[in-house]
Amino acid sequence: MVIMMKLNAPQADVEKVKEKILTENCKAHLITGNFKIAIGVTGQTNKLSEEEFLTMDSVEDVVRVSKPYKLVSREMKAQDTIINIDDSPIGGQELTIIAGPCSVESRQQLFDIAGELKEMGIKYFRAGAYKPRSSPYSFQGLKEKGLEYLADVRKELGMLIVTEAKDTTTLPLISECSDIIQIGARNMQNFSLLEEVGKLSNPVLLKRGLAATIEDLLMSAEYILSEGNYNVILCERGIRTFETMTRNTLDLNAVPMIKKNSHLPIFVDPSHGIGIADKVPPMALAAVAAGADGLIIEVHNHPDKALSDGFQSLTPKNFKILLDKLSQLAPIVNKKMGNYVSIN
Ligand code: PEP
Ligand code: MN
Repeated sequence: MVIMMKLNAPQADVEKVKEKILTENCKAHLITGNFKIAIGVTGQTNKLSEEEFLTMDSVEDVVRVSKPYKLVSREMKAQDTIINIDDSPIGGQELTIIAGPCSVESRQQLFDIAGELKEMGIKYFRAGAYKPRSSPYSFQGLKEKGLEYLADVRKELGMLIVTEAKDTTTLPLISECSDIIQIGARNMQNFSLLEEVGKLSNPVLLKRGLAATIEDLLMSAEYILSEGNYNVILCERGIRTFETMTRNTLDLNAVPMIKKNSHLPIFVDPSHGIGIADKVPPMALAAVAAGADGLIIEVHNHPDKALSDGFQSLTPKNFKILLDKLSQLAPIVNKKMGNYVSIN
């Protein structure tokens, strides 16, 4: 349920509505970014009567949200959510590029790659310190040491850090070291983890599960928003299908479908989506053409020696070629590449 307040509604009237919501054992969420104030209501809203709210001062309208996901839906909030991080906003007209290796492997490796990306104007640097791998025998990440190196990149190079939280135990440490917390595909329905990131203020990059529908992804995002963290970025990263020639099947249908049904930014990860380095650029371009708000791309200076996902990682040189193409495409789809500075 969403309660629309009249234009210039006094704060006292807004507070009264919020109090009433709380006394009914429901939660009130202030919807920002709207011209007028709106209050989203979650919980057992079927027990609430529209009429009772409609008779309160400054209430203009009460609308029931028909979708199972509420706070993430366009019905709840018509305008696109824009997430303000530093001076690099995400969503709206921005096209944001997150790049970096799959994993933190060493301090040297991290600084070498981050340095090259920074020179290209990349602000968001990705690398996993905790790696949830399909096999327990695969490289599991440098863990705390990896976070320490990421914190150094943040401090010394001034880049914004995107790194994955694998569980609730390490979450507080990851929250300190990162600007965006990544929730990986394998954890998309780890509801305890979703609830915990929902209590933090870090923006969250929520990746679609390997066998999750678009609605499952939106429902998982709802867990995070319902706890009060409204800064969620959705990410299509490919799903399992009968196809075996590619690592996953990048479901670009998700982009326009999510744009229609949710106000949250939607990113695409073409690296995991197709899983073959030289096929990443065309899929990255296709994602932007489909309306993606950003891309997360794996880049490694020695892909053949990478401890994870080398086969799908672009070299800095090939990544630079892709960036140039993206910067040509962006204005055609009405996007600005705000965090990319051409060094030609
Ligand atoms: C990753 O980003 O390196 C990763 C493990 O992604 P996913 O969770 O989408 O598999
Ligand atoms: Mn990876």
